[in-house]
Amino acid sequence: MRIVIIVFVSLFLLPSAWASLVDDIVNQASTSEFQSYLRVLTGVDAVPGSPGTYITDRYSYGSNIDVAAQYMRDQFDSWGLNTSYHTFDASYGPNVIAELPGTTRPGNVYIITGHYDTAGYIVGCDDNASGTAAVMMAARIFSQYQFEGTVRFVAFAGEEQWMVGSQAYAAAAAAAGDNIVAVINYDMFLQPGFDNADPDPDYDLDIGGDAQSQWLANLVAARIADYGSIATQVHNDPNFVSDQWSFWPYGYSAVGCIENTPNEIWGGSNDAYHQPSDVITNPDYDWLFALDAMRGGYAALAELAVPVPEPGTVVLVALALGLVARRSARRRA
Ligand SMILES: [Zn+2]
Repeated sequence: MRIVIIVFVSLFLLPSAWASLVDDIVNQASTSEFQSYLRVLTGVDAVPGSPGTYITDRYSYGSNIDVAAQYMRDQFDSWGLNTSYHTFDASYGPNVIAELPGTTRPGNVYIITGHYDTAGYIVGCDDNASGTAAVMMAARIFSQYQFEGTVRFVAFAGEEQWMVGSQAYAAAAAAAGDNIVAVINYDMFLQPGFDNADPDPDYDLDIGGDAQSQWLANLVAARIADYGSIATQVHNDPNFVSDQWSFWPYGYSAVGCIENTPNEIWGGSNDAYHQPSDVITNPDYDWLFALDAMRGGYAALAELAVPVPEPGTVVLVALALGLVARRSARRRA
């Protein structure tokens, strides 16, 4: 009987301790923190610690992209993550990488990504300071926890020149034999639907992947439903381009989260696309939509990497089990 009770209580308590960790992670995401990174990335606020230094663009062929890279790396460092630059071509900025090593299965790698370069000398708030800030907020929140698997936070360069940075990264990862289990990429998720002149009934987050990545697209959609209220649409499309596309040739599962499909974007769904009007004050940007999009992605990423309960939680659960066992023993005596 005692064994039965211990098993029962274990089954009841441990998953709830684990689930509450995912809840804790998701619930730390906030619009205010997200916007604090966006304000620096788009030149509204100065770079922390560098009064007078503003990131006025992140163009691949400009010099400010290196300022943006250093800003991100300094933030990642301040959160205690292992940081590095992946320099793949001297004419682009580096890919900026932060890593949280896994505790029990560090060989399994889970990645959240977004490109930080802009299409020209513009600040690119939606494209793609938004995805970059999503990666930064995830890094800050996840850095407070430990996970069984390794979690990486990657800001790619050279996306606007046809995903140059992520192609170099994925090729290097494959050559190194990295077992990348999942990649969740964010690229433009502030303005769902068509522009105000042509309201789109599909006011949803489009989640795209190739055939091998459908399990991951469905998982992200499911967690957005669990942790948010926005609609999603999953796409099985090998031409759903952004940085996720770079991982598919190597058999890695990767999905992209975006406000409209690439074809809709290119067809004019966002009139600020690659324009100087892509700024944080753009009235069309939907901040609550963006928050739900991140909450679901963070939940999927955390769930896959599996957060490890704090030692204190383990002790509490063990104490609870001990109490139950003693009580049952006394009852039988
Ligand atoms: Zn983009």
